Amino acid sequence: MPEHFDAVVLGGGPAGLAATAYLLYAQLNVALISPDLGGKVSYPFALRNVPRQDTVWGASLVHELAERVSSGLQHHLPDTVERVERLENGSFQLTLSAGGSVRCRAVVLCTGVRAQRTFASGEAEYWGRGLSYSAVSHAPFFAGRAVAVIGGGERSIAALQILLPLVKRIDYIEARPQPVADRARAEVLLNHPHISVFRGWEVQQILGNDFVTGLDIVGINGEVRTLPVEGIFVQYGLLPNNNAVRDLVQLDDGGHVVVDAHCATSIPGIFAAGDVTTIYAEQVPVSIGEGAKAGISAWHYLAAQTAL
Ligand SMILES: Cc1cc2nc3c(=O)[nH]c(=O)nc-3n(C[C@H](O)[C@H](O)[C@H](O)COP(=O)(O)OP(=O)(O)OC[C@H]3O[C@@H](n4cnc5c(N)ncnc54)[C@H](O)[C@@H]3O)c2cc1C
Repeated sequence: MPEHFDAVVLGGGPAGLAATAYLLYAQLNVALISPDLGGKVSYPFALRNVPRQDTVWGASLVHELAERVSSGLQHHLPDTVERVERLENGSFQLTLSAGGSVRCRAVVLCTGVRAQRTFASGEAEYWGRGLSYSAVSHAPFFAGRAVAVIGGGERSIAALQILLPLVKRIDYIEARPQPVADRARAEVLLNHPHISVFRGWEVQQILGNDFVTGLDIVGINGEVRTLPVEGIFVQYGLLPNNNAVRDLVQLDDGGHVVVDAHCATSIPGIFAAGDVTTIYAEQVPVSIGEGAKAGISAWHYLAAQTAL
């Protein structure tokens, strides 16, 4: 296994696979460091009367990319990167979690995000069986049904806006007040007759019978209420997997890696794509497109360096 590469891609989700595919196409010496191939596309989501293959948009393209990358890639390290350091000559040293390091001239960061959880009992059990962390991905599956939105802040307000025209009724649970940019507008929305607001209530347990059937919430006085719903959207913020570059590149307030239209970060030679970045909409087709752009940008960067 060589220790020096032209480019190293971190993350094997839709963005990382698309970036790697382009770097292989450019016939560069590339390594992909990722514990898996597919990223969040491999996460489960199922509902009664919804065919499994229809639940993740773009999944078949990701599987095709994974096959394409696997057949052309000589260096896949099933590991994670703990730290990226910039060396004096402008190249990079990547420290691997399992120990050891690799060096490269360009880095493409595609490490995705993780959803904040409620940690209520039943959450893990019903995740993907009525409980979702992404309204934009799953709202249409719940058309005509009663749902709950758990959270507070911008992501919850956006989920309410998306869900309201589709669903029968929404129970909105906000345990603690969260900041939103336009409070007055949010309050108008929360006053909608199809939304019941539970402020100061905690989620105690997710209920189900194969699929979600409701949730128990508990108030500050200890009162417990059962809300019958078929869908639960946990809409706290997303936590970008930025550890490896946290002290190196510019991040926004939420920890997303700031990128320009070319997927370039604030450090020359480091590119980023997909959910971990400031690009709008955490969706598979968006991540594939952004990953392709990041791969092409890294290719141009390396070609320009070589031509000097
Ligand atoms: C339950 C669920 C359902 C969804 N459904 C849909 C849907 O129906 N349609 C849709 O378009 N989108 C959907 N999404 C969103 C979609 O999955 C994401 O937008 C997309 O996967 C983002 O791609 P990505 O490559 O940026 O990140 P990810 O898919 O998150 O991949 C990140 C990769 O980075 C790796 N990684 C993390 N840290 C490190 C590290 N330090 N070093 C190396 N590798 C690392 C991970 O192992 C993984 O391979 C859904 C998301 C979830 C959670």
